[in-house]
Order: sequence, then structure tokens, then C-alpha cells
Amino acid sequence: MKTLIIGEVVEGKLSSGALEIIAKSKELGLEFEVATVGTVDSPNIGSDSFKNTYLKCNESQLSLGSVANTLKTMVDEQSISLVMAPSTYVGRDLIAFLSVDFDSSQVSNVINFSVDGENVITSNSINGGESEYNSKITSDKKLLLIRPKSFEEVQIELNSTNYETVEINSEEPEVFDIFIEEKSGPQLEDSKIVVSAGRGMVDSSNLSLVEDLASKLNAAIGGTRAIVDAGWMPYSQQVGQTGKTVKPDVYIALGISGATQHQVGMKDSKYIIAINKDEEAPIFQIADLGLVADTLSIVPKITENL
Ligand SMILES: Cc1cc2nc3c(=O)[nH]c(=O)nc-3n(C[C@H](O)[C@H](O)[C@H](O)COP(=O)(O)OP(=O)(O)OC[C@H]3O[C@@H](n4cnc5c(N)ncnc54)[C@H](O)[C@@H]3O)c2cc1C
Repeated sequence: MKTLIIGEVVEGKLSSGALEIIAKSKELGLEFEVATVGTVDSPNIGSDSFKNTYLKCNESQLSLGSVANTLKTMVDEQSISLVMAPSTYVGRDLIAFLSVDFDSSQVSNVINFSVDGENVITSNSINGGESEYNSKITSDKKLLLIRPKSFEEVQIELNSTNYETVEINSEEPEVFDIFIEEKSGPQLEDSKIVVSAGRGMVDSSNLSLVEDLASKLNAAIGGTRAIVDAGWMPYSQQVGQTGKTVKPDVYIALGISGATQHQVGMKDSKYIIAINKDEEAPIFQIADLGLVADTLSIVPKITENL
């Protein structure tokens, strides 16, 4: 089945979501190519391992309508049946454009997929990850949004030569405002250790304890929706159903109750360490190591002893 994987350039690299979908596509032996989406400022990315068409916007901001038009042309000209993108802001927008262009529904929250003749079978996560359902996609164009961290990333060498470039002239979109996600230190999606805070850190001023611990561990910092809603942390650091999905080697939950909507974003971490003063807190059901303790007194002690 002819397949197109959409990836973005994130911090000079092909997005981890794309590398995960490439791994699964290789495993299934699909005939795939990758469309990498970047701006005029992005570094050149190619690979000897697959055909890479680099869709470069002539602007410093992506014009997703114009990118989607180019993708549609690629899909039409090459009779591509299956298009997949990681479920990111860009992936979701591009697949939505293609869904309208091809009058074909997109299938979201896909955590696994396989090919059965002309059809694609997907497993999808619902109810905050509590349940799964399978779908069989029989339409001519199959449009899938893959949930990040569903597969291990493929290990491949990327280079700056082996790609074809399609330069995209944007259709002069009217830009009203631009919000750039603030990023510093280790990033949630890639870090081997994540330290996350919940309402059990009691007050936003105590997040400095979380930062001290994270800094010692070279860890990324996450949080629950409760503290994001309370304005303690930006949304970009929210872990869970309506935030990011992480899969680090170690996830440290500080004062987090462990609601299902939070668990869905971190339960696949290799080891989970939880600190909570309530021994009945649901987070302990999935923790490999649980400490029933007051975060405010134990976290500084842990940091001090590292
Ligand atoms: C549609 C929907 C989507 C959602 N999406 C998300 C999402 O993406 N991510 C997310 O996180 N949530 C999400 N939620 C919210 C989720 O249901 C919970 O409300 C939220 O995760 C709770 O955050 P919390 O653990 O910080 O707070 P709480 O549930 O209030 O838990 C605080 C914990 O801290 C402990 N504690 C208190 N003081 C201390 C102390 N001094 N020392 C040690 N422990 C202490 C308490 O025992 C308690 O277990 C969503 C909800 C809905 C309805």
C-alpha cells in the first residue's frame, strides 16, 4: 500500500512522532515515503533510508493551507492510499485539510495499525486511554493521526543531502498573532527522566523544589492539568489526555493523585516513582516505587542527597 508519512522539523531534527511511524511502517514492510515540513529557516534534512520530500515554506512561519495543497498534489500524482501524521498541532491541521480535500474521514488517536489487503485496521484509544476499539478503514484515502509514543523511534542516520525539495510559496495568509512555545532545558517528549508536579506541591512557589530536583537529574518538568489551569505552569508542560504523552525511563510524580486523564499521558513510562501523602492515591496503583510522604519535606531531602 503506497504510504505517505508527514513529519516536521523540530529543533533541527525530524520529529520523533515521524520517526515512530517510520519504524512501524518499516516493520509492516509498507512502501512509504516521508514528507518533511519545514520553514525557510529549517536545516536541511534527508535520509538514505527512505525517499524524503522536503516541503519548505518560503516564510519563517508555516502556511499549513499551502503545505496541505502540496501534499494533496503528491497524494494524487503518486496514487497514495495511506497518509499518516503524528498527532501534533501541525499534523492535526494538515490531516484535517486533507480530510476535506479527499472527502474522507480522518481516524484519530491511533495507537496501532496494520494493513489487510486494501484496508487498514487501526486500534484507537478512547475514554482517556481506559478503552480501545478497532476500526477497519475501507475508503480510498486513509488518513491517520497517530498518538505519540505508540511505537519506538526508528534508529536511522539523517543527513543534509538526500532529499528532494518542494518550495512552497504561501498564499499570503493573514497572520494575526504568533505564539512561540517557550522552551528551555530538557524537553518533555525526549527526556529520559521527567519530574512532574501536581496540586500536592501545595503552592506555585514550591515549584522551585521541583526545578531543583529536575536540574540535578537533568530531567524535563511536567505537570497536571490542575496546576496548569491554576496558572502555575504553561500548557506546553501538561501531561495527560489533553496534554502531552511521555514515555521516559523514569517518571517522578510529586503530589499527583493519578486521575485516569493524567495516567493516560504517562502510564507507559518504564519506571514510575510517586510521592503522595495519601496512601490511597490512585497513582500508587501504577507506581513501581511509592513514597507516602509530604512532598514539601521529602523533595528537598532527595535533591540534597543526589
Ligand atoms: C476531559 C478531561 C481532560 C483532562 N485532561 C487532563 C490532562 O491532560 N492531564 C491531567 O493531569 N489532568 C487532566 N484532567 C484532570 C484530571 O481529572 C485531574 O483533575 C488532575 O489530573 C488532578 O491533578 P492533581 O493530581 O494535580 O490534583 P489532585 O487530584 O487535587 O491531587 C493532588 C494530590 O496531591 C496529594 N497531596 C496534597 N498535598 C500533598 C503534600 N503536601 N504532599 C504529598 N502529597 C500531597 C493529594 O493527596 C492528592 O492525591 C482532565 C480532566 C478532564 C475531565
